[in-house]
Amino acid sequence: MPEPRESESRKLLGRLREALAEGSAGQERLDRITGLIAESMRTDVCSIYLFRDQETLELCATHGLKPESVHQTRLRLGEGLVGRVARDAQVVNTADAPSERGFRFMPETGEEVLSSFLGIPIQRLGEGLGVLVVQTKEPRKFSDDEVYALEVVAMVLAEMTELGAFQGEGAALAALHQRPFMFRGNVGQEGAAEGHVYLHEPRVVVTNPIADNPETEKKRLQDAFDRLRVSVDEMLSAAPVGDKEQTQVLETYRMFANSRGWIRRMEEAIQGGLSAEAAVEKEQTAARTRMSKVPDAYLRERLHDLDDLSNRLLRILTGQGSNTGAEIPADPILVARNIGPGELLDYGRSLRGIVLEEGSVGSHAAIVARALAIPLVINAGPITTEALNGDPIMVDGDEGIVHLRPDDTVATAFRDKVAMQAEAQKRYASIRNKPAKTKDGIHISLTMNAGLMADLPSLESSGADGVGLFRTELQFLIRNKVPKRGELAALYARVLDAAKGKKVVFRTLDIGSDKVLPYMKPQDEPNPAMGWRAIRVGLDKPGVLRMQLQALIRAANGRPLSVMFPFVAQFEEFIDAREQLAQALEREAKLKHALPETLEVGAMLETPSLAFAPRQFFEMADFISIGGNDLKQFFFAADRENERVRRRYDTLNVSFLNFLENIITRCNETETMLSFCGEDAGRPVEALCFAAIGLRSLSMRPASIGPVKNLLRRSSLKEVREVIDKARDSGAQSVRPAVMDWLKSN
Ligand code: PEP
Ligand code: MG
Repeated sequence: MPEPRESESRKLLGRLREALAEGSAGQERLDRITGLIAESMRTDVCSIYLFRDQETLELCATHGLKPESVHQTRLRLGEGLVGRVARDAQVVNTADAPSERGFRFMPETGEEVLSSFLGIPIQRLGEGLGVLVVQTKEPRKFSDDEVYALEVVAMVLAEMTELGAFQGEGAALAALHQRPFMFRGNVGQEGAAEGHVYLHEPRVVVTNPIADNPETEKKRLQDAFDRLRVSVDEMLSAAPVGDKEQTQVLETYRMFANSRGWIRRMEEAIQGGLSAEAAVEKEQTAARTRMSKVPDAYLRERLHDLDDLSNRLLRILTGQGSNTGAEIPADPILVARNIGPGELLDYGRSLRGIVLEEGSVGSHAAIVARALAIPLVINAGPITTEALNGDPIMVDGDEGIVHLRPDDTVATAFRDKVAMQAEAQKRYASIRNKPAKTKDGIHISLTMNAGLMADLPSLESSGADGVGLFRTELQFLIRNKVPKRGELAALYARVLDAAKGKKVVFRTLDIGSDKVLPYMKPQDEPNPAMGWRAIRVGLDKPGVLRMQLQALIRAANGRPLSVMFPFVAQFEEFIDAREQLAQALEREAKLKHALPETLEVGAMLETPSLAFAPRQFFEMADFISIGGNDLKQFFFAADRENERVRRRYDTLNVSFLNFLENIITRCNETETMLSFCGEDAGRPVEALCFAAIGLRSLSMRPASIGPVKNLLRRSSLKEVREVIDKARDSGAQSVRPAVMDWLKSN
């Protein structure tokens, strides 16, 4: 005797397939399906509700309710039992619907005499599409097999909806993946971009959800699993030795790939009438639903792994590789769950914009996107589920907003904004070769931050006075092994050549914290931002630091050289780092290499402790650069990567300004050159306030130089200083409101 599950769902799917093959389209097709489900399951009613927009469900077809209510009856997410099924993505099965929590009576449908209710979410890969409902007059609790059968049908309906099977004549159904969507994320890199979606990992399309022969499908599934296991083993043997994290993930993959429970559930779905790929997707949908509900970060990650493996299985089964052959569209905007810095660099400047579902402001990808000046929005909701390759998309990197398939009104407003920005760019270009001199005659040196060779052309186009911060770790981050000294020397030499005599301040390697090198042993620290990073690593394990210092001396080849040590927290670290440099110079002299014509050695002030260092430190340092990103995080004890707390403390907070002013005073006393090179230096209002309290050198992203210079040239620092002082005296928490008011009235 066949298994009961098989009989219910196979019977239903068989009939469904016949109905779908009949060639009807749109509404007629939906009506037919509700009719045959009601008949097969011996219910009085079968209805299909589909999402009209993110919040509203619409009755799209029914057998048994009043026909005039079709496309008229609508429910909000969470409203009534149908809304509850959609909101919770969970089955509701009850013999006595009116006594059920959330029941809402809808007289227009004529359902008053109905007693039992079975509602199944229609969803595809975690994306809710609607609800499939059957109801009877007689009280009846549906059996597990009946529920399962209807779940399988809902799965097929989701696939058919995805494929557009219910669009067309009279269906009044907004086709999926055609509606406009807005995603609100966080700013990763400012700027606006308009273009077309280019999915980093295109979604796999399943065109054959129903299958005749379960044995053939099970065999296909087995073969796919065999190939999956082989590829996981290959990945494991290719993983770098000592990379604990990657090995752990792959071990988990191997465990899943051998999990009997997972395979058995898929085989059950095949037995129920689904094809092998539809069975994988059914399990994947279930995993994604669980994923959204699991509060535990570790478990959520494991469900992510399972999701990743399911994608791999689907690619094997459908023959669609990670490259589905989709052409890179014109003006590509990369859409991905997340992406590594190396992959991002492979795409390079061909991308107009980037939208990530995950990521953080301080992540490697964000650093690279900033270096390439590509607008980036991070934490942008479930965009990879919604976007299709080639979809029109607009990225507002200033606000952290993404418009997918925007309608005309949104598109026009967006383009107006971009046109205004272009106007501003013209204004900035016209002052490119003019000095950043304020109305009261004070000159501020504006330099740029860089990290890649590709940044150097901006030196000319932005009008920067030089490179105030060259982050050398980017070169280490984008490779898969430690670069050789010769390679580095050649690269730094090219940087100096491209700078054509303008000063470049090279910061030695700042790894650790969020910047973990793929080929170095991860340290497993509870708090890496305050852990073994930057100069701490350089001094404890000086091999790489020495190699880097030698490369810099060789690159300078008799030209002036500026070297800066990151994350110096106490005087002694600076002394030790200088000693390393002195030894490197000695070695190079012995090897008869030309020594730099002049040598400036500075420190980054990124921890509050250094602001209170002995006077001798300030005397010894040739220059100091305030790394505001780190300094602010440690000053306020607010993680720079944690969006929630990061925004809580304003840079123009009186305490922080007072603190900066103290650093300025100490540097003035010893005549130590001081600059500010954190992201805040590139924000015009912040830059103006820094200048007003006495900073004379600011280093920023090249794109910020125009806007900062424009504001400085229009302002009198003396007046801004008066506004700041008055605000400070008033007991205000931040001087920003007062400065903004002053700017508006000037
Ligand atoms: C800083 O901390 O402000 C800085 C410039 O260094 P990074 O952002 O590379 O840590
Ligand atoms: Mg820093």
